[in-house]
Amino acid sequence: MINKVIPLEYQDLHDPGYTQMNREETAGFLEQSLRDLLRRVGEHSTFYRKKFQECGFNPMDFSEMSDFTKLPFTYKEELREAYPLGLQAVPDRDVVRIHSSSGTTGKAVIIPYTKKDVYNWSVMFARCYAFAGVTREDRVQITPGYGLWTAGIGFQAGAERLGAMAIPMGPGNTEKQIQMMLDLKSTVLCSTSSYALLLAEEIQKRKLREALHLKIGILGSERWGEKMRARIENELGIESFDIYGLTEIYGPGIGIDCKFHQGIHYWSDHLYFEIIDPLTGRNLPHGELGELVVTTLTKEGAPLVRYRTRDLTRMIPGICPCGSVYPRIDRILGRSDDMIKIKGVNIYPGQIEEVLKETEGASSEYQIRLMRVESRDHMQLTVEVEPGSDPEQVAERIRANFKKRIGILIDVRAAALGELPRSEKKSKRVFDEREI
Ligand code: ZN
Repeated sequence: MINKVIPLEYQDLHDPGYTQMNREETAGFLEQSLRDLLRRVGEHSTFYRKKFQECGFNPMDFSEMSDFTKLPFTYKEELREAYPLGLQAVPDRDVVRIHSSSGTTGKAVIIPYTKKDVYNWSVMFARCYAFAGVTREDRVQITPGYGLWTAGIGFQAGAERLGAMAIPMGPGNTEKQIQMMLDLKSTVLCSTSSYALLLAEEIQKRKLREALHLKIGILGSERWGEKMRARIENELGIESFDIYGLTEIYGPGIGIDCKFHQGIHYWSDHLYFEIIDPLTGRNLPHGELGELVVTTLTKEGAPLVRYRTRDLTRMIPGICPCGSVYPRIDRILGRSDDMIKIKGVNIYPGQIEEVLKETEGASSEYQIRLMRVESRDHMQLTVEVEPGSDPEQVAERIRANFKKRIGILIDVRAAALGELPRSEKKSKRVFDEREI
């Protein structure tokens, strides 16, 4: 079964040939898809032909799944080196569009898409909407950016494929966003979680919540904790869904949580997910936390084999209560590069959010400063405190919970609600001032 909470009308977004397979057939499908993919890239992708030659792998030799884990990973740096079109694995005449990552931390990565890639992406995105309960009756306000970036256009194509009304606002201009939200009676908000929080605070300030028609939030592109999620949901009066994706693999829309909110379903008929230990590269058993590695099964323009996403998560064993055949990963706990190493301990931002979640009076917003004082690492955590609670007591509780959960002593500073900067894009939370 695809998902018992999805109306029949939207079941055609799923390939019955796949969703009705039993376990054995699914395994066979995956093996065959990987075999086809490896042959295809071995033949048509200069990038992979070279990569496979370097490690002495002949795609014709792939016979079973255990061969796959021996293949080399693909890293973001390699995609950058392939700039501009070194990843293209089809003739020019088959490319209908390109997208690009922002390139703020080096050269941009350019990903070419074929007609089929664009179609498959919109189908996957429409599935995301359907899993979140969006229907043709809905009006979808899209605040992520348009342009080279994959965000806005992905949200739009998915909404159109589903049959909902897309309102392509693009980012910023909070005044106009709220105006349109009221005038057009938007029922679905698509945004980053930090922009949703900014909008929520603004709407609360103006006491407009009752005038809104919002009921669903499709939020993503950055990691956000349960506490932040609860605040956004309460203040906007919505149920929120955590959408997953990355520019190198289509864009947003390759996975989302369902109404049971027990992890993110991903579209395993198009993508193969592995979880590995980021240090050793070893595949980890189901349930263990590690880095997500993605292989695209059906992508034509720029297929990727074992791409290191740097996102930390785990596979969730078992079947979701919604009954869907699509497997689940946990919500993203952090980035393997965002891992903070302090006093010999690895800390992921997700763990900090866990501490705040269990601390009474702590809000979801925080900032970290890492310093070196007298040649020792030192961490200062500034946390916004809920109104009405004693800042000193909350800081003390956070300090104690941090020690209990993560095992190190840190400095905690309480701040008033709204004191830390908000962003329309991704909030920077960690400032490392240690000398390297
Ligand atoms: Zn589910």
